Amino acid sequence: MKQIAIVSGKGGTGKSSLALAFSTLAKNAVIADCDVDASNLHIVLNPTILKTEEFIGSKIAHVDKSKCTGCMECYLGCKFDAITKEIEIKESFCEGCGVCRLVCPEKAIVMKDRVSGYTYISKTRFGFLSHAFLKPGAESSGKLVNEVRKNAIEVSIKNSNDLILIDGPPGIGCPLISTITGVDLAVVVTEPTFSAIQDLKRVFEVNKHFGVKSVVCINKSDINAFNASKIREYCALNDIAIIGELPYDPIVNSAIVSRKTLLEVSDSPLSSKIIKIWKKILDEIDG
Ligand code: SF4
Ligand code: SF4
Repeated sequence: MKQIAIVSGKGGTGKSSLALAFSTLAKNAVIADCDVDASNLHIVLNPTILKTEEFIGSKIAHVDKSKCTGCMECYLGCKFDAITKEIEIKESFCEGCGVCRLVCPEKAIVMKDRVSGYTYISKTRFGFLSHAFLKPGAESSGKLVNEVRKNAIEVSIKNSNDLILIDGPPGIGCPLISTITGVDLAVVVTEPTFSAIQDLKRVFEVNKHFGVKSVVCINKSDINAFNASKIREYCALNDIAIIGELPYDPIVNSAIVSRKTLLEVSDSPLSSKIIKIWKKILDEIDG
């Protein structure tokens, strides 16, 4: 089974629109939405959820009032202002550090699992989708990405799928590392803007560090000829293949509004270019 991650470094480059377009073209694939902080593939894919599981991302302090003497040690020890003077835990402030449990002389505080979100296995018109919901403000998104990938692998083994197509997160932190670890190819979607070029370089370095092959797709390549040439120069210098360039087209927005992939919009001028890019991606993982 092969795994392809579509990543970007910077949000707003068109990564998810391309991932959706590829999911239209992929045969016998499981789609994994690893952009767990802002998952959005489900909006277009309109999935039917088959399985839901709680995601335990962290711990939260719980006070057993029957043991509490009101000594205030926990209140004084908490550096996150998560305990009131009445010794109540403010859930949204608690970081789960466990200091209050350590300092409590009465052993009145226990750390309980905190449900930070949910993972889902769903069916879509293009096959199975592994995705997740992370509660607002919840952390551990790298750990949640691992869960989404693990579910995608389990589903693909069970259903004899031979490809996992991953929509990755922006940035270069834990969620990206969890997304690219062990994949066969990272497709870095960039655009000719200064910030996107900087982020492309950072993502490429992360991919290189983890031994993951990168290829580049320049989206909206016609919005700034100078910056587009800078991307081409950088890729040439670092021996990174550019598998395609797509011009700016407002059809991308209208496709999203109508909850269709770019390949489902009739007369899309981007379709033939995207099909060529997909063929190059398949060549890269087969080669
Ligand atoms: S676990 Fe840490 S953050 Fe949460 S209430 Fe206790 S000391 Fe404060
Ligand atoms: S440290 Fe323990 S006993 Fe003291 S106020 Fe906190 S919970 Fe109560």
